[in-house]
Amino acid sequence: MSLKGKTAIITGSTSGIGLAYAKALAAEGAGVMINGFGDAEAIENERKALEEMSSAKALYSDADMTKPDQIAAMVERCTEEIGTPDIAIANAGIQHVARIEDFPPEKWDAIIGINLSSAWHLMRAVVPGMKAKGWGRIICTASAHSLVASPNKSAYVAAKFGLAGLVKTIALETAPHGVTVNCISPGYVWTPLVENQIPDTMESRGLTRDQVMNDVLLAAQPTKKFVQPEEVASLAVYLCGDAAASITGANLSMDGGWTAQ
Ligand code: NAD
Repeated sequence: MSLKGKTAIITGSTSGIGLAYAKALAAEGAGVMINGFGDAEAIENERKALEEMSSAKALYSDADMTKPDQIAAMVERCTEEIGTPDIAIANAGIQHVARIEDFPPEKWDAIIGINLSSAWHLMRAVVPGMKAKGWGRIICTASAHSLVASPNKSAYVAAKFGLAGLVKTIALETAPHGVTVNCISPGYVWTPLVENQIPDTMESRGLTRDQVMNDVLLAAQPTKKFVQPEEVASLAVYLCGDAAASITGANLSMDGGWTAQ
C-alpha cells in the first residue's frame, strides 16, 4: 500500500509503539510528525532516518500532551510544514502502578491528561481538515485495559476505557465523511513503558522481577509472548488503507488471547 502524499501525526512517537508506527507509515511514503520526549540527538537521528525512509518530510514536535494549547500548535505546525494531517494516531501514554490509597492525585491527573484528554484535543484539531478532504484515519492506542481491568492501575484503566468510548463517539460523528476512527488494544508489548512499571509492581505486590514478568505480565497472555511494536504498527498501516474503509468505531485487540478469557 502506498501512503505517498499523506501526512501522519503520531503523539508519543519517540520510543516504543509510537516510533514503530512512525517507521511503518514512513516506509509506505507518508510524511510524519513525531512527538514525545527523550534525548535530543537520538530523536534527531530518528527524524532523519524517517525522512530517508519516506522521501517525504519528517518533523519533530516536543508538544507536551498535558497542554491543550501545545497540541493545537503541533497540529498547526504539521499543517503548515508537512500538510493537513490525513492520519492521526493518539498514542502518547504513561503508567503508574499503586493501590488507590497510595495513588498520588497528580499521577491520576497526568494519566488522564496524557492517555485520554490529549486524544480528544488531537481529534478536535484534526477532524475539520479530514472532513474537508473527505478522507481521514484516526487511531488510538488503547490497551487490553480498555476491555478488562487489573488491580493497582486505576487511572490507566479509567483512561483506556474512556478512550474506547471516545473512539466510538467520534467514529459516529465522522462516518459520513470518509473518516475512520478506531482503537488498537494491545496486550503487553515489550517497550520502556512496560519495563518501567516492573519495579513498582515488585513493590506493590511484593514480588521478584521474574515473578512480575511471568506471573503478572505474561500470566494474562495465553501466547506467553510479548507483542512486538512492529505487529501493532502493521495493523495501523492496514487501518490506513482503502481495504479498511468500513472498519470504524472498532476496538481491535492484539493481546495474545488475553481478553478472550
Ligand atoms: P513508551 O514509554 O515507549 O512510549 C511513550 C511515548 O509517549 C514516548 O514517546 C514518550 O516520550 C511519550 N510521552 C510521555 N509523556 C508525554 C507527554 N506528556 N507529552 C508527549 N509525549 C509524551 O511506551 P509504549 O509502550 O510504546 O506506549 C505507547 C502507547 O501504547 C501508550 O498509550 C500505552 O498506554 C499503550 N500501550 C502499551 C502497551 C505495552 O505493553 N507497552 C500495551 C497496551 C497499550
